[in-house]
Amino acid sequence: MLKIFNTLTRKKEIFKSICQKKISMYICGVTVYKDCHIGHARTFMFFDVVNRYFINLGYSVKYVRNITDIDDKIIQKTYSNKKNFISFTKNIIDRMHIDLKSLNILKPSFEPCVTSHITDIIDFIHTLLINKHAYVDQNGDILFSIKSYKKYGQLLNKKNDLNIFKDNKNIYKNDFVLWKKSKNNEIFWNSPWGNGRPGWHIECSAINNVYFKNKLDIHGGGNDLIFPHHENERAQSECFYKKKFVNYWMHTGMVILKNQKMSKSIGNTFLIKDLINKFNPDVIRYYFLSTQYKHPIYYNIKNLIEINKILKKWYFCIDLSNHKNFNFSLNNSSLFYINLFRNAMNDSFNTPLALSILSNLSKKIIMLYDMKKFEQAIFFSAKLCFLGKILGFFNLNQSSINNFNNLKDIKLYNKIKKIIQKRTDARKLRLWKKADLLRKKLLKLGIHVQDKKNKTLWYFKI
Ligand SMILES: [Zn+2]
Repeated sequence: MLKIFNTLTRKKEIFKSICQKKISMYICGVTVYKDCHIGHARTFMFFDVVNRYFINLGYSVKYVRNITDIDDKIIQKTYSNKKNFISFTKNIIDRMHIDLKSLNILKPSFEPCVTSHITDIIDFIHTLLINKHAYVDQNGDILFSIKSYKKYGQLLNKKNDLNIFKDNKNIYKNDFVLWKKSKNNEIFWNSPWGNGRPGWHIECSAINNVYFKNKLDIHGGGNDLIFPHHENERAQSECFYKKKFVNYWMHTGMVILKNQKMSKSIGNTFLIKDLINKFNPDVIRYYFLSTQYKHPIYYNIKNLIEINKILKKWYFCIDLSNHKNFNFSLNNSSLFYINLFRNAMNDSFNTPLALSILSNLSKKIIMLYDMKKFEQAIFFSAKLCFLGKILGFFNLNQSSINNFNNLKDIKLYNKIKKIIQKRTDARKLRLWKKADLLRKKLLKLGIHVQDKKNKTLWYFKI
């Protein structure tokens, strides 16, 4: 039974989807004015694991992640030129896709841009205005009235006291912009309230309305979005629908760089492409998943180097079964490691525990291998591959049975390599009897050989 920690209630709750075997999930995406940093990588990688896990459990997942392609910073960079504006954001969106693909993060089902939903946003604001949840201020901007929503502040603070949002003149200082009147030389869209553009928070409520109506199982993002972004979204959407908006709120912790939260606006960012140049995507994935998703990660390159060593062992192990798909029924209680893994993931996606189970499994495989129990080693190797793939590992084909580099820390490797070399030399000298003896010697070690034109392939007997 899956439990999920809900930011709203601060409790682990038993997960129940709105529709049987279907998941609706909305994750707040990137504001495209700069390249993605490793804070984005962590958040999107975690929700990638959530997505993959639900798929593995047999759900079909409708996963929407928006792209904020209009905001002050984008306007500052492109001024009033719409052509510049479109090519600027398109360029960053393309680079974001390259970054996330290089981390082996699956694409969401839909990735709507805000500028493609301006009419939906205007309609949404219109309804809020009619129902007196919004008003026009003296500048002509449309603001949301937080006092019109009694539950305002619950995501930030469970106490739910609206008075904390009043300033000393009794004014609700957290009323926020839904529609911003355009200033001179700014990009704008027409609306019933004059030329302008949407505020930030309204885009997610309006896009959610388009894709999910009022049926959202999971809404998430980085924990810097809890307040005000998600608080405001919740206020808008619950006032719009007049009922509950989201069943489970999930938030990932920040990546801390030199004791400062990593953020594009602070400018202390470490980009995905910098990281991907140094490490393979599985190492980065392991690194992020080895901390519980809610907690902060204090970035330290030494940890990544250590993980590289662990993954070399994993690759050795999965090479044994050569990615063969064994049909492991997940309902079979005798499947010890699979059940352990499932229990860890069901405990609000406890990925550090899931990783430790995979590491134990890899130790077992190497032990069986050292004992020359190849058949058993191969069986558990297929299990490791199966479970690793649920977390998004092993998809880039970094390993293959003939990739010697992956085996170099294993004792037996050197022995096999020596015999194969001797055999190759013998064949070159046409010493067929000697070559045949060496082939038999390899067979005793569980190794099959296959002679190709210029090289000899070898693989473990299955
Ligand atoms: Zn959002």
